[in-house]
Amino acid sequence: MINIVIFGAPGSGKGTNSAELVKRFGYDHISTGDVLRAEIKAGSELGKIAQGYISQGQLIPDELMIGILTNVYDEKLTNGKGVIFDGFPRTIAQAEALKKMLAERGQKIAIAMNIVVDEKVLMDRLLKRAEIEGRADDNEETIKKRFNVYYTQTQPLLKWFEKEGVLEDFAYDGGTREEFAAKIINRVEKL
Ligand code: AMP
Repeated sequence: MINIVIFGAPGSGKGTNSAELVKRFGYDHISTGDVLRAEIKAGSELGKIAQGYISQGQLIPDELMIGILTNVYDEKLTNGKGVIFDGFPRTIAQAEALKKMLAERGQKIAIAMNIVVDEKVLMDRLLKRAEIEGRADDNEETIKKRFNVYYTQTQPLLKWFEKEGVLEDFAYDGGTREEFAAKIINRVEKL
């Protein structure tokens, strides 16, 4: 089974490219952001806790997030082909927990695909997404906070992935979504 981490700043296209991989390879997809948004919609206890953090552009505490991820991993696997982690890990503690959880299941991270996009492009995309999807955390103020959280808490993970020998960069060079997705798919085909 292949475990793929899709990594990148807010708006870099983690969700979009994950969906392309799901379509092409039939992998399971775990988006922790989607899991949390579903909990909020359902009005669960967890959703109530998550909402406070998400609306502030802050990360859900590691301990809580790691517990959620482990449950989803054990429940969501449908075919054993592969899993795409989208939006997790976001901190070093989460990465260490993921490594441990996978090892306990005889698994490991095959690749961390780091999507690299210019920050101006990211901001434009997120503001556009705000108009289309109406995501509560896609307003300019919260977006700025999310970038800040990304740079301070999440980006340091690149070094961690590098040390693990799994990091690969995929730079967005201004082409179409499809062209970029093709790059990602081609790489995964070779895993
Ligand atoms: P996303 O859809 O991945 O951009 O996630 C939206 C929001 O959900 C983030 O800004 C965080 O508040 C929260 N979130 C998602 N994944 C995580 C995670 N792995 N750790 C902590 N918070 C998360």
